[in-house]
Amino acid sequence: MSTQPTVPETVFAPPATPLVPVEGSAAQFPVRRILCVGRNYAAHRAEMGGDERDPPFFFTKPADAVVPPGGAVPYPSRTADLHHEIELVVALKGGGANIPVDKALDAIFGYAVGVDLTRRDLQNAAKAKGQPWDAGKAFDHSAPISAIRPASGPPPQGRIHITVNGQPRQDGQVADMIWNVPEIVAEASKLWTLAAGDLIFTGTPEGVAAIVRGDRVEGAVEGVGSIAFTVS
Ligand code: MN
Repeated sequence: MSTQPTVPETVFAPPATPLVPVEGSAAQFPVRRILCVGRNYAAHRAEMGGDERDPPFFFTKPADAVVPPGGAVPYPSRTADLHHEIELVVALKGGGANIPVDKALDAIFGYAVGVDLTRRDLQNAAKAKGQPWDAGKAFDHSAPISAIRPASGPPPQGRIHITVNGQPRQDGQVADMIWNVPEIVAEASKLWTLAAGDLIFTGTPEGVAAIVRGDRVEGAVEGVGSIAFTVS
């Protein structure tokens, strides 16, 4: 008997796995799925119309929404209000369900800088009707990301900021997150069985605003890296 794994026949070639570069490595990070935390900074929760009793929550983007460094970020269809949200991204090398907070860091491969692009007009229309956010959040090219820096030591706590055409937009501190990194992993693992390849966008500080075609977007998270793209 052969010990070779059987490759199932498929009716067309399976789609390629989205990949993100890893700093200091020729090997890339294969993306399984993308979870995102909403309203994880108090001042952004307030600017979005929430109040202090609203806890953070999750939504998702498809894995192939990622745009690796140097990739094109086209202005998306059906919006006149595309917003930037600069975020710390957690990249998992392991997972499971019901991960205790004190074991959560064991599942983390590294960190990246991401921008949760949002069709705010479509998101707001969905909110008003009690409809899902997918059209506002989970569209093509909606998750530009930097290379992943492998984790070493405690999670990032420092400055997170973004400029558009050199003008400051968002400028905060990762330490101000309502759920910190281990708590986010633990909370997510209560809802989903996490696994290697999962990315978690951890929420954005206040100052979200619109970008248009031709804008140069540059962001960074202290101790993690930087991201830059031009909206085409
Ligand atoms: Mn966000």
